[in-house]
Amino acid sequence: MSRAADVWRVVLDMPLRRPFDYLAPKENCVTRITPGMRVRVPFGGQRLIGIATQAASESAIAPERLKPILDVLDTAPVLDESLRTLLMWAADYYHHPIGEVFAAALPKALRGGGGALALSRRWIANAAGRAAAQSGEPRRAPQQRRILQHLLQNDAGAGASEVSVLFPGAAVRALAQRGWIELTDAPAPAAVAGPAPTLGSGGFELNAEQRAAVDAVNGAFGGFAAFLLHGITGSGKTEVYLHLVERALSAGRGALILVPEIGLTPQLVGRFRARFAAPLAVLHSGLGDRERLQAWRAAFTSEARIVLGTRSAVFAPLGSLGLVIVDEEHDPSFKQHEGGFRYSARDLAVVRAQQAGVPIVLGSATPAFETLYNVSAGRYQRLSLPRRTAQAQAPRIALIDLRTSAVHCGIAAPAIEAIERHLRAQGQVLVFLNRRGYAPTLLCTACGWSSVCRECDARMTVHQAAARLRCHHCGAEEPLPQRCAQCGFAARPVGQGTERIEEKLAELFPEVARVRLDRDAVRKKGDMEAAMQRMASGEARILIGTQMVTKGHDFPNVTLVVVLNADRGLFSTDFRAPERLAQTIVQVAGRAGRGEKPGEVLIQTEFPDHPLLKSLLAEGYDGFARAALLERQQASWPPYTRLAAVRTSAKSAAAALKFLTEARRIARAPARVRLLGPVPAAMAKRAGRYHAQLLIESRERGALQRFLTRWIEEIEQLPSGRHVRWALDVDPLELF
Ligand SMILES: [Zn+2]
Ligand SMILES: [Zn+2]
Repeated sequence: MSRAADVWRVVLDMPLRRPFDYLAPKENCVTRITPGMRVRVPFGGQRLIGIATQAASESAIAPERLKPILDVLDTAPVLDESLRTLLMWAADYYHHPIGEVFAAALPKALRGGGGALALSRRWIANAAGRAAAQSGEPRRAPQQRRILQHLLQNDAGAGASEVSVLFPGAAVRALAQRGWIELTDAPAPAAVAGPAPTLGSGGFELNAEQRAAVDAVNGAFGGFAAFLLHGITGSGKTEVYLHLVERALSAGRGALILVPEIGLTPQLVGRFRARFAAPLAVLHSGLGDRERLQAWRAAFTSEARIVLGTRSAVFAPLGSLGLVIVDEEHDPSFKQHEGGFRYSARDLAVVRAQQAGVPIVLGSATPAFETLYNVSAGRYQRLSLPRRTAQAQAPRIALIDLRTSAVHCGIAAPAIEAIERHLRAQGQVLVFLNRRGYAPTLLCTACGWSSVCRECDARMTVHQAAARLRCHHCGAEEPLPQRCAQCGFAARPVGQGTERIEEKLAELFPEVARVRLDRDAVRKKGDMEAAMQRMASGEARILIGTQMVTKGHDFPNVTLVVVLNADRGLFSTDFRAPERLAQTIVQVAGRAGRGEKPGEVLIQTEFPDHPLLKSLLAEGYDGFARAALLERQQASWPPYTRLAAVRTSAKSAAAALKFLTEARRIARAPARVRLLGPVPAAMAKRAGRYHAQLLIESRERGALQRFLTRWIEEIEQLPSGRHVRWALDVDPLELF
C-alpha cells in the first residue's frame, strides 16, 4: 500500500472510463497540487497532460508499479470544483469517458500545456490612434474608423474575441499596421460593476410584461430557479436579458449567456457591449486556438464577467456565477450530435445553474416541447412576452393551396401577386426555402438516370453558378454534366433550391435588387453583415434564404414572408419533425412586420387540410404544442419517456447491424427498459459508410441510467465493436 496522500488520481484525455493513479512528485509537492490543476505524467511511452482530481491515501496498484507525476503545470486549478462537479455529472449522465469530457471543457492550447494565467491581450487605441481620429482619419475606410471609435470609447479596449465578432474582416490588421491600435498585455482597468452610464436614461424603458419578467427573475437571485421566457419574435427578450445581467454584475457576480451558433451576431455582441462597461468574453466555434485561449483566460481571471458564447461556452470558467441565460433554447445546435461527447448545452446549463444555486432563463419564441413539459410539470416557471415592442403588429398568416394554384418554378401565382403588391408599396419581401443550391437533383428524362451520390443514399444537388454537382451529406462534388452520364441525352435540373428561386425572382422583378442568405452565399466573415446592410439600407428589397434567416437577425422592413415549401416536415419518420416544422414556420413568420408596417405571411402547401398546419394557424404555437404533446404521450415518445440511442457506422451494412444485434443480445434489460431495433438508418449509406441505430427507451430516468451504466461497459468489450464506429447518444435530438 502507498502512504496517505501520496497518490493522485489523474484524468487523462483518452476513451477510458476511469482515472489513473500516480505518485505525487518527489519534492514535497502534495501541498502544491490541488484538485483541478494540470499535471504531466508518463503513460505508455509518452508524456501526457492530465487533470489531477483527487488525492488518495492508497491505490489498488502496487506501490512499486506506480509512476510519479513529472510536472505540475498550474499554480491554481484550471477546472475549479464547481466545473469538475458539472463535468463529472455530465460524464455520468452521458456515459462518456471522463477524460474526454474534461478535455471538452478546456481550450486546445491548455490541453497542450499552454499557460493558463498569462494575461489576456486586448486591442487598445494608442495616442497616435487618438490623434488620427481627431483629425478625422481614416477617411476612406469606414470599417477602420468604426473600430477606432469603438476602442477610443472603451478605455479598457476590447478583447480579441469580441473584436473578431463585432468587426469581421481585415480592418483590424490594417489599423494595427498603420500604428493606431495595438495589442496590450497590461491588466484591464477594474471591471466596472453594474450599469454603464447610459442605462436608465430612457430608451430602455420596459413594458409591463418585460418588467414582470425582470422582477420575477430578480426575486429568485440567490438560489436556483428555472424560467422559460416565452417571448414572441420582436417582444424584446434581449432587453430583459440585459436588465438581468446588470443585476448579476451589480451583485458582484458573473453572467453566462449561451446562444445558438448562428445567433451570435455582431448586433447581439454590440448590444451587450453598448450596455456594459465590463469586458466581454466571446466564445464560439469560429475562433482560432489563440483567440479561444484569450477569451477563456479573460473569463478565468474574472477580467470578463460576462461570457457570451455558443455550445461549449457552457463550460466557461466563471468564478462567481450569478446568472445563466440560454437564448433560443429550442435550437438544435445546442446539442452536440457528432463526435464522441454528445451533450446538450441547454440541459447542462440547467444543471450548472442548479449546482451553482443561481437562476437560469431559457428564452424562445418557440420553446422546445421538453421545456413546455417542464413548465407544465411545475419545474420551470413561465414568463410571457406576448406583445411586440414598438408599433409592430402580429402578421396575418394564410395558406396557399399548391394543388389549385398555377406554380412557376416553385412560386405559386398568388404568392407572385403578393410579392408584387408589397414591392409596389415599398415593402421588403422574404422568400424562405430550406434548401440551398439550384435544384435538388439532375434528371435525364430519356432514361431516368439521376445524380445519385456514389457515397450516400442521396442525390447530388445542382449548383448552377459554380457549375458543380454537390452532395450535401458527404461533401462529394463533381463538374455539372451537360448530358446524361448514361445515354447522352440532355439532363435537366428538377425541383428548386434558393439559387433557382433567386433566378426566377430576378426574371420576374428585374428592377428590384436581391440578397440571398444561405451557406453558399455566406461563406466568409463579413458576408452576412454585407447582406444585412444591403437590406437595412433598402438597396435590396427581396431576401431569399434558408434556415439562416430565422436566427437572430432583424429585417424590420420586411412586410411579406413567403414560405415556399412547408410540406417536408409533415410526413417524417422522426417524431420531432412536426415540432421543428412549427418552430421554423413561426420563426420565419416572425420576420414579417417588425417595423411599423403590418406583415403578411403566406405558406405554400399541398396539404392545406393537414391537422398540424390547421392547428398552427388557428391556435398558434401554444395550441399546436398542446395537441402535439398529447400525441407524443400516446405514442410514448419524449418528454414522456427517456430515450437513448446507440449508433453505429461501418464499411458494410451487415457489420453496422451485427454489433447492435450483439449489443441487444447481451442487454439483460429490466422490464421498465425497452430496446427498439436495431434498424438501418433512414439514409443508411452516408459518406461511404453504413449507419444503423438501436433505441433504448424507458419511462424512468433512473432505470434507464442504471441499465446504461452496466450495459455500456459490457458492449465496450464486444469483439465486433472493433469493426464499427459506435457512440451512445443520450437524449438524441434526431432519429435516423
Ligand atoms: Zn439518360
Ligand atoms: Zn454523398
